[in-house]
Formats: sequence, structure tokens, C-alpha cells
Amino acid sequence: MNKRTAAGSIAALVLAAAAGLGLSCRAQDAHANLGYQDTPIIPGTKWHVHDGTRPQPRVVDPGPAGEPVKPPSDAIVLFDGQDTSKWRGEKGDCPWKVENGYMEARQGSITTRDTFGDCQLHLEFCEPTPPRGNGQGRGNSGVFLFGVYEVQVLDSYDNPTYADGSCGALYGQYPPLVNACRKPGEWQTYDIIFQAPKFKDGKLSEDGYLTVLQNGVLVQNHVRIMGQTGHRVLPNMAPTGEKGPLGLQDHGNPVRYRNIWIRELRPSDAS
Ligand code: MG
Repeated sequence: MNKRTAAGSIAALVLAAAAGLGLSCRAQDAHANLGYQDTPIIPGTKWHVHDGTRPQPRVVDPGPAGEPVKPPSDAIVLFDGQDTSKWRGEKGDCPWKVENGYMEARQGSITTRDTFGDCQLHLEFCEPTPPRGNGQGRGNSGVFLFGVYEVQVLDSYDNPTYADGSCGALYGQYPPLVNACRKPGEWQTYDIIFQAPKFKDGKLSEDGYLTVLQNGVLVQNHVRIMGQTGHRVLPNMAPTGEKGPLGLQDHGNPVRYRNIWIRELRPSDAS
């Protein structure tokens, strides 16, 4: 998936969503029916991409949902519960439904109109209730950093799927450290620290890293980003610009979002 323009990023999200819906391609045996074993081995591991036999993340109860986390004074508010003007859809303005302080996925994935570099991102999401579907078909969405690196959003509450596609996974690369999901219908938080891979003359010059807390629980601990998100393929470390848009995936499930804010990371004033 290539990225440079917002339109390109949206196309990438559409492709990822379409690929992710290929559930009929799942292997048939009892273990592999959670995923695949005809995919490449993830470097540094013994597991295939989306390996259905990879252990499930341990369940951790994160406790009850709290009030929305107010944005700090230097944050850029991307969605305040009403205004979607900072977002665009595949054909123009953001088509997601807005009501009761949230927006709900429909009619395609969306991306921010602005681009951002390294960042701290906060958002809150809510999985559909009652839950419908299974595996990757239940409450699937995703947060696409730079439009190309997906932190999976999925209803992984009592819903096994391949580990590297669980909620909190860097999709196809790293399963979450634990399963810290709340029940569908309860608000959940993501706090994401993203250092983008850097490129010089078309080649990787600096590794990128990702840290994710879900509901206050660490689920990705400074993992090295292997490349852009794909489905059933190894991550592709393709060059990007110095900044990129933030994307939210519409995977055909009415996942809700609220209270989205971002802080671009800068060196300390004292450094
Ligand atoms: Mg997804």
C-alpha cells in the first residue's frame, strides 16, 4: 500500500479492509481455523503471519470505563464529539454518523485532513452491542498511523481470532501483550506513542517504534515497526513522507469513536 496523499491513504485503507474480509480463505483444520499457516514467517519469530495456532493473549480485566480523558492544553483536538471537519472520507467530507458525542463507522474509512509526525494519540472507542459476527468480523476497525500502520481495533472480548489480529495488535506484526478489552458497549481507550520510521533517499534511515496502552494497560511496549500493514503478507517497509494522516478504518462494523486528540512529539524545551 502506498501513501503520500490523503486519497492514497484512503485507498490503502479500503484495500486493507477488503483483504481483511477474506474470511472464507481460512484454513479448515481445528487449530488453523483461527487464522492461517500458509503465510510467510514473521522475521524473528516462529509464527506465520496471522498464525491461527499462535497463543492467545492473556486476558486482563482493565476495570470499568472512566469519564473521557480531557485533552491537555497543547493537544490538537481531532474529534470533540460533534465536529468532523478535520476528517475526510473517500469522496470528500466525513460520512460517518455523528450523534450523542460519538461518530460511528459507515460508508468507508476516513483520514485526517492534516498530517502529523511522531505523536502521542488518545482516542476512545466502543464496540457494537449486541456483538455480531466472529473473529475478524466482530467489531473490526483500526487506527492507521501515517495511514499505513494499523493498530487493530476489534471486539476481542470472548472472541478468539489470530493473535496478531486481536485488539491492540500491530496488525500482522505483534499481538497485544495481553487482552485488555472491555465488553462490547463499554467505552475503551487507546493511548498510542508513535515514532515513525524515517527514510532518507528512499531507504530506511531510522527505525520506528510503537507503544500502546489499552484501557490503561500496556499492550505494545516500544515495538519496532516492521513495515506497512498488509493482510496475509509480510509488512512492507516502504518509504513515507515525514508526516502522514491518521486513519480510522471502516471494516463494515458500526464501531464508535469519541474524544480523539493528538500531540505532536517535540524535543524537550530543556534539551
Ligand atoms: Mg482492522
